[in-house]
Amino acid sequence: MSGFDDDERINAFEKRHDSTNTIRPEVNGRVPAPHQPQPQHPTVNTSLPSTRSSSVSSSRSKLSQYSYLGQQEGTPLNTRVASPYTLNPPIDFDGLSWPSVGARARLEQTEEEAKAREGRIADAVKTILTELGEDPNREGLLETPERYARAMLFFTKGYEDNVKDVIKRAVFEEDHDEMVIVRDIEIFSLCEHHLVPFFGKIHIGYIPNSRVLGLSKLARLAEMFSRRLQVQERLTKQVAMALWEILEPQGVAVVIEASHMCMVSRGVQKSGSSTLTSCMLGRFRDAQKTRDEFLTLIGKR
Ligand SMILES: [Zn+2]
Repeated sequence: MSGFDDDERINAFEKRHDSTNTIRPEVNGRVPAPHQPQPQHPTVNTSLPSTRSSSVSSSRSKLSQYSYLGQQEGTPLNTRVASPYTLNPPIDFDGLSWPSVGARARLEQTEEEAKAREGRIADAVKTILTELGEDPNREGLLETPERYARAMLFFTKGYEDNVKDVIKRAVFEEDHDEMVIVRDIEIFSLCEHHLVPFFGKIHIGYIPNSRVLGLSKLARLAEMFSRRLQVQERLTKQVAMALWEILEPQGVAVVIEASHMCMVSRGVQKSGSSTLTSCMLGRFRDAQKTRDEFLTLIGKR
């Protein structure tokens, strides 16, 4: 990827927002230029079967659309490409954001459909219980499948949220260009590899560029992305990139420290261990002093 200078970045932004689609949050009652419309539902990646023929080109245009985020050598976005998913944008045309293969169906389901969904999950859990050597009909387990189904739906309720609703009208024009940090936000998420919880704290910082976000919304954003099947690295990036998209700030810094049940409960690591991930964008990435200030303020230095 070639380097972008500021003008190119701005041009790219204007181009993307030059359409009639309205996902951008309102800024003090003013609706900013909306996102570029995407030709289809956003979940496009090469490892999921797609019935849509335009998936490849759409995927490409999406990558280039967001390429400014990974414009420089050595950014978090293009040095860790172990998963192509990480290159997907955190905000898409309908704000549901990926992975959302079934998210829309879930979001728009009727009450009966929701009940039926819960029932199907519960049936699957009965199978699991049986295969574990249990008797799903014994008293203690009688309602476990339904309970588990409801719990799983809650743990993944972030699929039913979208950035637009989370942000609402909480983006404000403000002549403030000092670091804003909300630290120690509790997060609970599910490891997508083992379907067991990981949980801990997220610290979010940004340097505004004449736009600020209502502080509680930082926690809401973290909640939305963490109530999905996740890996900690991606969760970190998604929160950072969403904030980058929403505010167009001078910089974004996100650090997550979390304890993974799949690690601590299986003896892979000692139970006190935690995993730290970070995503630094803009000035936090470019200027070590700024980054150090952030890390000091969140007590990680
Ligand atoms: Zn795991």
